[in-house]
Amino acid sequence: MEESVNSKYSCPRCGAENLLVAGERFPVCAYCDNTLVVDRSGVVGHYRLPRLVDREQARKALNRWMSGNQTVKDLDRKSALQTLKPLTFPMWLFRSRQSGAETVFVEPAAPTPIPQLAELKVPAGRLEPFRKAGEGVETVAATIPLATARGWLSERGIETVTESSLVQVPLWRAHYRYENTEYQALIEGSTGSVMASVFPEKAESPYFLVALLGLVLFGIEGLLIGNLFAKFFVYAVTAVPLALLAFWVTRKV
Ligand SMILES: [Zn+2]
Repeated sequence: MEESVNSKYSCPRCGAENLLVAGERFPVCAYCDNTLVVDRSGVVGHYRLPRLVDREQARKALNRWMSGNQTVKDLDRKSALQTLKPLTFPMWLFRSRQSGAETVFVEPAAPTPIPQLAELKVPAGRLEPFRKAGEGVETVAATIPLATARGWLSERGIETVTESSLVQVPLWRAHYRYENTEYQALIEGSTGSVMASVFPEKAESPYFLVALLGLVLFGIEGLLIGNLFAKFFVYAVTAVPLALLAFWVTRKV
């Protein structure tokens, strides 16, 4: 009766035949000691990218991003970091050989609040066999089946896949407050790049208002003053405070 619940599979790494115990999601190959993942589509390898960015470096990367051009001015000083926690996020990794060259593609293996994660670059040379997440590291369960991710890959026009595996990507999750709102950012734990989909952005409206004010003022002056020489004189006089206002806005926002 034991035979009916157990089945055999060949290790995707060394090819050796193993016995699969029903219900086991992360078996270890008895021959090459590789940690594997059981998915409805079969048994695939389980890898991880090493965590090269420590907490201090993650905090620094976040600060650099906050003081950069994408976010509102002085976000690094005006926001308060609440938590900075390590987590590991699962991604399906596919190798595809197209016209002789091998390309690596990734698709998320769990729902991600931050779309940039799907564009993550995985340096294939750095992959290590995954055993288990470190102490205090939050693990996100792989809830998106391999077949679903393969479907997304086909939609991107990639049909020939030579190898599929699950890769655990190290991340740091930061929660910070800015003007009574809480925001989240992810820092990639291999390269230190910051990923965030919602953050206090540089406001565009003040620039727009200055431009609009200029149009309105020049328009009114143009209508009121008939004399061409007087018109240019008034335009020149109006342009000075407008330029100063524009400069002030650039500094402030
Ligand atoms: Zn093996």
